[in-house]
Amino acid sequence: MRPTGSLHIGHYVGALENWVSLQDDYQNFHLIADYHTLTTSLDTTNVYKDSVDMVIDWIACGIDPVKSPIFRQSKVKQHTELHLIFSMLITKNRLEKNPTLKEQIRDLNLQGVSYGHLGYPVLQSADILLYKGNAVPVGEDQVPHVEITRHIAEHFNQAFELNGKKIFPIPEPKITKFARLPGLDGKAKMSKSLGNGILLSDPEDEIKSKMKKAFTDPAKLRKGDPGNPNICLVYLYHQKFNPEEEPEIRNGCTTGTLGCFDCKMKCAGKIAEHFAPAREKRAELEANIGRVVEIMEDGENRARAAAEQTMSEVREAMRFG
Ligand code: ADP
Repeated sequence: MRPTGSLHIGHYVGALENWVSLQDDYQNFHLIADYHTLTTSLDTTNVYKDSVDMVIDWIACGIDPVKSPIFRQSKVKQHTELHLIFSMLITKNRLEKNPTLKEQIRDLNLQGVSYGHLGYPVLQSADILLYKGNAVPVGEDQVPHVEITRHIAEHFNQAFELNGKKIFPIPEPKITKFARLPGLDGKAKMSKSLGNGILLSDPEDEIKSKMKKAFTDPAKLRKGDPGNPNICLVYLYHQKFNPEEEPEIRNGCTTGTLGCFDCKMKCAGKIAEHFAPAREKRAELEANIGRVVEIMEDGENRARAAAEQTMSEVREAMRFG
């Protein structure tokens, strides 16, 4: 995840919640993708603060840093080394076809794309394969990047072997039921850059005020009008955060007995309730930033050891040892 500001509930349902549920069965590595922030902005004023804030969000939502290292990409130099090697294993043409890059160009109205932005899935491939990742728990927008990672791993394995063995696994994406949570404005993706999200740190009042503007069935103008929950964003959020009442909400919407305002406030209340323990935990961690910094340093040491092991295999296989 990139440290580009506060996390929203799309990050949670698309990725973070999945990381928490996988941490008992897998050896997870949690990367603060700070170099990746340069793809969309060269303003690094807040990159460290945003990194610490993001770690606080991760731990508050249930990531256990003892089980799974949490670390900054820029502190493990092996990422840049493997990125350079991988950049020789993919064509510019293939990278230009990346649908996520096309989406970013459109959404952020970019006039040109830097060499590094075009190649960021290659850096991401290094981020994944440095730890010999088998499974990559990401949102839907990142799936094309896992495809590129698979291509690079296969290409490397064909070109180089170490004592007759292939070095890299071919990783699979692991997506959730809500792998692309739409934004409050109805846009296809809740996104930091579009500012259309509910933040994990938003208190209940803020969630309620944001929810008032959420996109619903435009044909349902007032209570009494029947609505179509299948095109309503708030109903989708209910499915995730209020599954017990979902049939009742659906029925109330289609028959018109439930008005959009009441439906939105109920949903906002459920989202606030869901994140209440995380908000409490966050306050504790914010009062102990020294501990968060220690967690990052410990993660960096553990990640660096794993990364160096892979790089020594890569160098030897490539005769750069
Ligand atoms: P952003 O797109 O907001 O800059 P990142 O690119 O750092 O955030 O994404 C971090 C992770 O969160 C990725 O796995 C991404 O797929 C996931 N993610 C981000 N937004 C959403 C969303 N709206 N729905 C589902 N997953 C999301």
